[in-house]
Amino acid sequence: MPIEISPPDLRRWQRSASGVDYVHVLESGCPGPTVMVQALTHGNELCGAIALDWLLAEGVRPVRGTLVLAFANVAAFARFDPAAPEASRYVDEDYNRAWADEVLFGPRDSVELRRARELRPFVDRADFLLDLHSMTEPCEPIMVCGRSTRAVAFARRLGVPGVLLLDNGHPSGLRMIERGAFSDPASPRTALLIECGQHWERRSVEVAKDTALRFLAATGAVDSGWVRERLKLDPPARQRLVRVTEPVVARSMAFRFVRRFAGLEVVPRAGTLIAIDGETEWRTPYDDCVLIMPSVANLRPGVTTVRFGRDASSFGPEGAL
Ligand SMILES: [Zn+2]
Repeated sequence: MPIEISPPDLRRWQRSASGVDYVHVLESGCPGPTVMVQALTHGNELCGAIALDWLLAEGVRPVRGTLVLAFANVAAFARFDPAAPEASRYVDEDYNRAWADEVLFGPRDSVELRRARELRPFVDRADFLLDLHSMTEPCEPIMVCGRSTRAVAFARRLGVPGVLLLDNGHPSGLRMIERGAFSDPASPRTALLIECGQHWERRSVEVAKDTALRFLAATGAVDSGWVRERLKLDPPARQRLVRVTEPVVARSMAFRFVRRFAGLEVVPRAGTLIAIDGETEWRTPYDDCVLIMPSVANLRPGVTTVRFGRDASSFGPEGAL
């Protein structure tokens, strides 16, 4: 893939009044929700960093409640090298698998754990959280809602993107969107994770900006007129919900797909061989199986290489903007 975008210069956002570098807390002075948008959960996912840099430069202000804009794994981002762009996903470990209390409050130490421990108080305050990501392989944007049907309902209010995903997380650790009350059906707190497109494509930046804008308006944090003036992309005519049924987890470094599969590719026949891992064969479990983000870019034993999903439902427009 050609690299169409370059890392923004974030040095001007390092110092902040929040007490934590690269975390900006903007107060409206009026009652309202705490709304958080985070970029650089993965250090090589540039679209979110460009979108937050742009929002801050545009002078985004909350009209209600508190707005938190955070650049997360800045240590990994600082190592970004266009010659080896996948290498800066993280320094020691995946920041987005560190969000269980046993891990955050446990004895282990790493660059990512230290950063997660710094950002944890902001995450735990957020009534609404949007986590901006991009993908290794080309794929249309996907809103990851975790197990939360409340998050699905909120993504329908955003009206973007076209594909919403209910999943079961990753065996290798808890993601930020699954932390605490975000996974509690009785809580109103809501977290979403958007995969904006392939890491290096220019369009991923437009998707990140538009999704963040629509999110800020839907939470009520930012004036919808201010948002509307800055939207560039038309929302999809329909949104569809895909439900993950099971992950395919690599057992060894021998894992390989039998051919190249596209993101969200539908495999018509149950029992189709898709991957081999030593003695293990991976076959699709049902007809019309959706392959979610197949990739071996971060291959190691225990890592999810693809997830199987079913089309669950499809919705007409509900977006508020
Ligand atoms: Zn990511």
